[in-house]
Formats: sequence, structure tokens, C-alpha cells
Amino acid sequence: MDTSKGIGRQQRETRNGHRGAVVWFTGLSGAGKTTLAHAVQERLFEAGCQSYVLDGDNLRQGLCSDLGFSAQDRSENIRRAGETAGLLADAGIIVLAAFISPFNADRDRVRARLPAGDFIEVHCDCPLAVCEQRDVKGLYRRARAGEVAQFTAISSPYEAPLHPELSLDTSRLGIADCVEQVLARLRGGGVLAPPR
Ligand code: ADP
Repeated sequence: MDTSKGIGRQQRETRNGHRGAVVWFTGLSGAGKTTLAHAVQERLFEAGCQSYVLDGDNLRQGLCSDLGFSAQDRSENIRRAGETAGLLADAGIIVLAAFISPFNADRDRVRARLPAGDFIEVHCDCPLAVCEQRDVKGLYRRARAGEVAQFTAISSPYEAPLHPELSLDTSRLGIADCVEQVLARLRGGGVLAPPR
């Protein structure tokens, strides 16, 4: 064991029995990112895996409290979220990141900052009409009324991922099926096994 640089990622992963990774859920508001991140976390927790949900709620109140919703601030928000996710993955944790993250360049930058294979992009692909009908937080109604500026897919663009590791049509698939697909991807990608 090389302890010259302290405890390394591989040692943590070996102890955990799985690899660190960043599962990055992207999609419109109401597409199911938060729901799936927490549902996957529950399954991972039951299986004894180390995992953590990162989302707008826990980052925007603290680390990103100085940022708004302009294109520039959204990019910076995602950069900080990506850096945080990367640190947690290096700590051997499976990060479940749920951010609208509307711009390809921002998500690609997060991917590029992480070791190859760490970034697993999951597109929660749900038509705007369905998200708007769900209107989980009442934000679409407010956005249509002009009360929320720069709302994704209403008054601000959303760029769908070009090559996501997984694409889930959450308007057609049930939550349980989506969770199984994410877990299958983690198994297939070797995340749920200790490093060799
Ligand atoms: P987001 O985090 O993307 O804004 P939420 O997870 O808060 O979205 O809300 C998604 C809503 O859609 C929830 O009410 C959830 O129960 C529902 N839903 C229906 N089918 C699915 C699915 N397959 N995956 C995720 N959520 C779904």
C-alpha cells in the first residue's frame, strides 16, 4: 500500500466495495430528476453503497447563494456543482446530481473535468407539455404568467444531451422502471463493483 500521498481513491473504493461516480440527471423542471435521484439513492443505500444527492436545493442555498438564473450564473452554478460532485466521487461516493443544467457546453465541461467513465449523463426526457401538466412546484404557471424570468423551456433554452449514457422517457416509463435502468447502467459500467 502506497501511503506516501495519504489515503487514495482506490483504497476508499476498495473499502466501499464500489467505485465513485457522478450520475448526472438533466432535463426540464418536472422531468423527474429529483424523484429519480432520491429513488436510486434509496436502492443504493439499501445495498450498502455510499451515495449522495446533490441538487439545486442544497447548493443554491449555500455554495451558490450568490448566483441567479442568467446564462452566465447558470453556467457557474453547474461548474461549482460539477466540482463538488467530482470531489465527492473522488471520496468514493456515488453522486446523484439533479440539475436542469440546460446547456450542453456546461455539462460537457463537467464531464471533461472528471476522470474518464466517472460522468454518467442521464437525460430525463419528458415533453414540455407533460412537465407543465405535472407542474410539481407551480413554477410553469408562474412562468407563463410572466412571474418567473428566464424559466427553462418557456423563456430560456434547454439543450438536450447529444450522447447521454442513458435516456429515459419519464412520460412513458414508470419511476420503478427508470430506477432499474439507472442501476443496470451502474452495474454494466462497473460502478457497483470494487476497483480491480
Ligand atoms: P425535477 O426534479 O426534474 O424538477 P421532480 O422529480 O421534482 O422533477 O418531479 C417529477 C414528477 O413526475 C414527480 O411528481 C414524479 O412523481 C412524477 N413522475 C412520473 N413518472 C416519473 C418517472 N418515470 N420518473 C420520475 N418522475 C416521474
